[in-house]
Order: sequence, then C-alpha cells, then structure tokens
Amino acid sequence: MAVITRFAPSPTGHLHVGNIRTALHNWLLARQAGGRFLLRIDDTDQARSEERFVDGIRADLAWLGLVPDGEERQSARLPVHEQAFETLRAAGRIYPAYETQQELELKRKVLLGRGLPPIYDRAALQLSDAERAGKEAAGTAPHWRFLLDHAEPITWEDGIRGPQQFDPAALSDPVVRRADGSWLYMLPSAVDDIAMGVTDVLRGEDHVSNTALQVQMFTALAATPPRFAHEALLVGSEGKLSKRLGSLGCDALRDAGIEPEALLSLLARLGTSQPVEPQADVAALVAGFDLGTFGRAPARFDAEELARVNAAVVHQLPHADVANRLPAGMGPEAWEAVRPNLARVSEAADWWQVIRGPVTPPAIDDETRAFLQQAAGLDLWGEDPWATLTGALKERTGRKGKALFLPLRQALTGRDAGPDMHRLLPLIGREEARRRLEAAALQ
Ligand code: GLU
Repeated sequence: MAVITRFAPSPTGHLHVGNIRTALHNWLLARQAGGRFLLRIDDTDQARSEERFVDGIRADLAWLGLVPDGEERQSARLPVHEQAFETLRAAGRIYPAYETQQELELKRKVLLGRGLPPIYDRAALQLSDAERAGKEAAGTAPHWRFLLDHAEPITWEDGIRGPQQFDPAALSDPVVRRADGSWLYMLPSAVDDIAMGVTDVLRGEDHVSNTALQVQMFTALAATPPRFAHEALLVGSEGKLSKRLGSLGCDALRDAGIEPEALLSLLARLGTSQPVEPQADVAALVAGFDLGTFGRAPARFDAEELARVNAAVVHQLPHADVANRLPAGMGPEAWEAVRPNLARVSEAADWWQVIRGPVTPPAIDDETRAFLQQAAGLDLWGEDPWATLTGALKERTGRKGKALFLPLRQALTGRDAGPDMHRLLPLIGREEARRRLEAAALQ
C-alpha cells in the first residue's frame, strides 16, 4: 500500500520550528517511500481559524520546499463528520451528556481529593429517557462523548516509542462534539485520516493519549488504524523551548538569512542518533531519513547550531539558487569566490562592494607605503595574478607571511581578512588593482 502522510496544522497562527519539524518528517517519510504528503487544514474551530494563517501555512511550506501533493480542509468536510457521528451514535458509541463545566470540575476535584484519577464517571449513561427529555426541555443541549470499549487494552506498535498499551478504563470517554454542534479535534481527525487514506500518522508525543482514543475511533468506524509514530518534542538548548525560539517562524528565519535547506538539515536530524549534516540538496535528507534513529529524549534546538548549519549550507549553494538575491551583475565567479566567507547570502553584497570599489584602505606607516608603491609599480598580472604579484614581491623585498600579504590585502580590499585573494584579485581586475595599490601608497 502506498504511503500517505499528512501534516494537519490548525490555522490559528503561523508555523513555528516545532510544527515545521513535524511537516518535514511527514514529507520525508512520504518522499522516501515514493508516497504522498498531504496538507490538511484543521479548521473546525471557526472562531480561532483565520484565512491569513491558511495562506501563511501554504506560503511557508512553499518556501521550505515541502510542497503537498494534495490539500484538504476540515471545514469543507462537515457532512462527512456528521455522517460518521450518526453512524457511531446509532451503534451506541456516542452518547449525549449534560453536565456543565462547573459540574465536571466539581467531579474532578472530588476524585482528586480522594486520591483517584479524574476519570469521567459516565453518569450521563445512567440517565433515563425521561431525565434526558427533562434536561432538554429545560434548555440544556447535550454535548457528546465517545464511549470507550473497556473490554481490551488499547495497543499499537509506535514507530518511535515501540509497543504502546493503554487501559481504556483509565481514560475518560472523550467529548467529541460541543453542545453548539461544533467539533473537537479528535473525531474529525480520525474520520478524515480514514477518508484520505492516511497510512502513517507521525506527530508530536503530546498526542500519544489522543492516539489511544483515536485507535478505538478507527476501529469503531470499521477502519484499520494507520501506523502511528510520536516524536519527542523540541526543546531549547537549556530546557523548555523559549517563547522567542519556539515561535520562530519562516518569515523571521528568512529575515535572519536562514536558508530553508539549513533549517531542514537541522530539523531532519535533531533528536535522532544521526549527526546533523548541512545539506543544500534535500535529496540527501530524504535518503537518510529513518524513524528507527529517533530517540525518546527531547530534541534540543539551538539557534547557534542553526546559524552554523546555515553558513555551511550557504557555502554549498550554487549561483543559480541565489542569483536573484545577489546584487545586479554579481556572477558565478564572484559568488564562488566570496561564498566560503559568508554566514548569510545577503553578506555577498558587502563583498561585491569590495570587488567593485571604492574601498578605503587603513592608515599605514612609511615602510608599508614604500612597499605598496613598489607593488603598484610592478603592475604584474597573469593566470593567477595574486601568485604572480606576491611571488615577485617576496623575492624583491624579502617580506613573507603576514608582512607580505596583509598590507596588500588591506590596500586591495580595505579589510584585514576575507575571501581568498587568488579568487578575489582577478575579479577586482588589473587596472583597478593597480589604482588601489597606488591610492593606498599615496594617502
Ligand atoms: N490539528 C492538530 C494539531 O495541530 C493535528 C494533530 C494531528 O496530527 O493529528 O495538533
């Protein structure tokens, strides 16, 4: 059976590193298996869902290169949810309950006070028809609970956590629908996973107890549950993911000069036993993806590590991938010359300015002045002009190492350090190089 995964964000905010990671892993799982990766917009919560966030999610996935093979929206599937609801209700697996929030809270407190787990007592199941009719006549609309089957333990083989077992009697029958008819997340998600043919549900471990409930929903709807895998959550390097790091979205990352490939390289491997490898080509991430390497310990996200991975990715990016972000006229030679010195693509503009000039040389002493005058006078060029120039100057002046190279670099670039001069000097050009050496000597 072809693998079908889905990424199911609620459009109540922007994607952040945590759910970008979930999206990536689902994309990798599908790509590696030659399957399909679907986007499902979980917008049953009408009050909190916003269209701008739906657009944002699509744009972010496009920027990341995690393009879905199809898209579904839960709000467009309400009749399907309704139908499943009626089926389960007719089968006695969904029942009405009338307790108010306060009553439920009181029940919880009593149980907790007696040292018992706060499991719903199923009091609503004990109501007679007359009692139910009485409540409804008094204007209390019911909310709806899914009746868990207590006969057997709930089990599944988790793709990351291994064999899982839950005692259904230790769980409350989940509320699946509110009194106003709106849905909670649980049932529509299972219904849509069935309809979409989802074979693999890969999500955060905060969903483990939902999975226990949903396994029974799949079965009650006569479907085989998908394979489940729950990954450890993302945390900051010092523990909990800080609000700032945790809410980092694609816009902020892009503005900070982070390449999507860098983020993907890091998020593909965080929390796994595989090392983080900066990959400018995501094909390598697809090939290396392996749920078996995912650990149970939280995955530590570190902004500095992201910056390091980003620099390493930038050093691999071909000119064609960045051309539209470079200053006009900056061609492949210039890009490749400066690329190893960049932490971000935008910094290429600084080096392009150095190549094109003007540059401001630093203040120098008389001896250096004479040396630069000599360099300008030589006006040597060749296949590798830097080698020619420095070779000749070394011979004539006896200078070597820093004393030879630094004043030349400073005069030619206005900086103490930077890209390889063998590559930079040809880009500066013979005339301009001589002019800069002279200008530095004459200042
Ligand atoms: N909309 C749910 C969430 O964002 C989806 C969870 C799931 O993957 O089933 O948490």
